[in-house]
Amino acid sequence: MHKKSTYNIPFQTIPSVQEALRQKRISCEQLLTDYLSQIEKTRHLNAYVEVFATEALQKAKSIDEKLKSNQPLGKLYGVVLSIKDNISYEGHQLSAGSKILQGYQALFSATAIRRLLDEDAIIIGRTNCDEFGMGSSNENSFYGAVKNGFDESLISGGSSGGAAVSVQTGTCLAALGTDTGGSVRQPAAFCGLYGFKPAYGRVSRHGLVAYGSSFDQLGIIAHTPEVIGDLMQIIAGPDEYDATCLQTPPPDYHTPPKNAHWKVAYFDGILDHQGMHPEIKTAFSDYLEDLAVKGHEVTRVPFEYLDYLIPTYYILTTAEASTNLSRYDGIRYGFRAGQVDNLEETYTKTRTEGFGQEVKRRILLGTYVLSAGYYDAYFAQAQKSRRLIQDKLYAILAENDFLILPVTANYPRKIGTNPSPVEEYLSDIFTVLANLTGVPALSFPIDNKKGKKVISLQLLALKERENTLFQWFTPSH
Ligand code: GLN
Repeated sequence: MHKKSTYNIPFQTIPSVQEALRQKRISCEQLLTDYLSQIEKTRHLNAYVEVFATEALQKAKSIDEKLKSNQPLGKLYGVVLSIKDNISYEGHQLSAGSKILQGYQALFSATAIRRLLDEDAIIIGRTNCDEFGMGSSNENSFYGAVKNGFDESLISGGSSGGAAVSVQTGTCLAALGTDTGGSVRQPAAFCGLYGFKPAYGRVSRHGLVAYGSSFDQLGIIAHTPEVIGDLMQIIAGPDEYDATCLQTPPPDYHTPPKNAHWKVAYFDGILDHQGMHPEIKTAFSDYLEDLAVKGHEVTRVPFEYLDYLIPTYYILTTAEASTNLSRYDGIRYGFRAGQVDNLEETYTKTRTEGFGQEVKRRILLGTYVLSAGYYDAYFAQAQKSRRLIQDKLYAILAENDFLILPVTANYPRKIGTNPSPVEEYLSDIFTVLANLTGVPALSFPIDNKKGKKVISLQLLALKERENTLFQWFTPSH
């Protein structure tokens, strides 16, 4: 990645859009028209699967009406969002980047969507993603790869690649994605943006297309952490439709920034992690040094489970995926294969034709690790190792405010240069930890000293201290 975005980003925070609207520097209709024309100009990047132009414009006009006649407005008037193609929006198609869901229309809106719409947010379209969220490059989408706005030959990252590019190129203020093992943070990093995966259970999963249910979380991509905090303020909190939601009230994401001296931990040996790009290594160690110079307490901590993260993650998520995806049988949702003689053939043909290669690989893997003969050897072991990893991370975070990690060991690669599946899985090494343990994680871009290349780091904290992730971004950082 050699250059920073040259796209025109009209607004980067919610107060700035709303001020412009109130001062009549722009109408909501004009704002929408500008975003829509930006979508047209960037069509070739393949970020959107569908644009809701007419109805979004309609909503914008009604906001203008309300503004004119001083009617009450929701907290998110003027906020234009894209949503990943695996989040339900009532009456709109939903395909999770898969052929198997072609033509399916959401029957209800996800809880997060409902809460945003209730505050007058506008949803401009649904974005491209890896099929069922399975991937790290957005190349596993039925609709094809998403191109990175920095350099079109590069991957956008994934699985929320369209979400990241939709924000990167100025087609909306922020994007909703999902993060099962890094799918919000990694594409945000590859596109030079902030990406947030909330604590597990902080945001309702009601209305998300399930991949790995004990890992999945809805997340947000934006140009600034303020926007993410403002949207979290609206969508976080218990929901009667999701029994796994945290029952404790969410923190106040508007807590003022604190110029504290934080205790920051990093893993021993991480700088020498095999496969780490030398520039990322340097940028990371420079950043740690800067923190110490600024008076923060930076501590190297042992972590003996680094090599277990990927196997544990992929055994458990494929197991969960294999059961979650059993519902796509050609009867209940979307696509059904033609020319079949009986029910059995309907199932097999629909699933053979409807699922892509990576999804099939994971269903097979997941079925295998759950099968009677291998359950104890793989699934049960992975559950134990998940617990060990959790206990260790919680112990580290009890002693420290944050754990800091790079988001990826490398820059985005070129589209079409797919490594082997295992190599691709290994690239998720730094992102899966937050999902294995359920802690919140915020990724943020830093510039390396030599110039423009965007590198991102991420902070993890205990779920009780989720708001400290936002307090971190004081002017001094
Ligand atoms: N790349 C990881 C995977 O393929 C993470 C995906 C995600 O977070 N949805 O499973």
